[in-house]
Amino acid sequence: MNTMTAIWKTEPKQGFEIKDAQIPKIKDDEVLIKVKATSICGTDLHIYNWDAWSASRIGKNLPYIFGHEVSGEVVEVGKDAKGVSIGDHVSAETHIACNYCYQCRTGNSHICENVEILGVDRNGTFAEYLSLPARNAWVNDKSIPHHIATAQEPLGNAVHTVFNGEIAAKTVAIFGMGPIGVCGVRLCKLAGAEKVIAVDMNETRLKFAKDFGADVIINGSAEGVDVRKEIMDATNGAGADVFLEMAGSPGAMQDGLATLRPGGRASILGVFSKPFEIDVTNDIVFKGIQLNGVNGRKMFDSWYKSKSFLPKMNLEKLVTHKFKLTEIEKGFDVLLNHDGMKVVLEP
Ligand SMILES: [Zn+2]
Ligand SMILES: [Zn+2]
Repeated sequence: MNTMTAIWKTEPKQGFEIKDAQIPKIKDDEVLIKVKATSICGTDLHIYNWDAWSASRIGKNLPYIFGHEVSGEVVEVGKDAKGVSIGDHVSAETHIACNYCYQCRTGNSHICENVEILGVDRNGTFAEYLSLPARNAWVNDKSIPHHIATAQEPLGNAVHTVFNGEIAAKTVAIFGMGPIGVCGVRLCKLAGAEKVIAVDMNETRLKFAKDFGADVIINGSAEGVDVRKEIMDATNGAGADVFLEMAGSPGAMQDGLATLRPGGRASILGVFSKPFEIDVTNDIVFKGIQLNGVNGRKMFDSWYKSKSFLPKMNLEKLVTHKFKLTEIEKGFDVLLNHDGMKVVLEP
């Protein structure tokens, strides 16, 4: 038996195909992982829907296996693979860096110019087995259930964004209460933020934000709600010290910058579908703010921090749905209808 069940993207259009694949043959520096849990990320929804980004980035890779959030068990180790043993429970850092470009050689491999992303540029985790360079395997404590360990990847995104600057004693406005935003809320509270303001358009997601520790929740789609006024009121007219954009929405970006106090910090993780206007003069230059883009996780600083926060994150609550891998269509339905947070699939 050299074959496995896998979820393929075969055609440049919406959807996927479930069919057998060869179990990957590992290279000398790789490990073979038996997938125990894999979860659906926003990126997978883009690929499922086959939007403009997917077409331009992935079109040339078809057919291939997608998915990138994972927890599994190492079943084979290449002869040059270091730091990982057979039987280890591992998750995957999905950015496979080249280790020789300028960024990689100056401690910034998360923005490697030759990056290969798991489930985007090479076969991913929606399968029974997966090959991965050993240096990208993150060994988990065996006490962590696989359905929780797979959610560490988005937690890592939240860690990278929240800790891009000072957070203790700050007022923080976070836009976008998907799994990353909700993790962001909790991290800010655990790290000693004075007040966390959560903004979204969806009431269910805002309930999660409240459960995860948000002091103020603002529903931007509610009748008569002025997001900017609510944030200014919640900060005694000063504006927030820190603005975290996790929605990928032009409106969120504009509101967040407009309500950031002079000298504040804006960290942007959201991915926007197209360019849009912002008031650079008034909201960035004259306010003297610090603005930074956040990509992926800092390798492997974000992972060590995630490991430390994981026991206090209550990720169990974020995993709203579990399906068999072959029932993946149900998972996409849940997320496209905004009925769930994290959907975990088990082969
Ligand atoms: Zn992801
Ligand atoms: Zn590189």
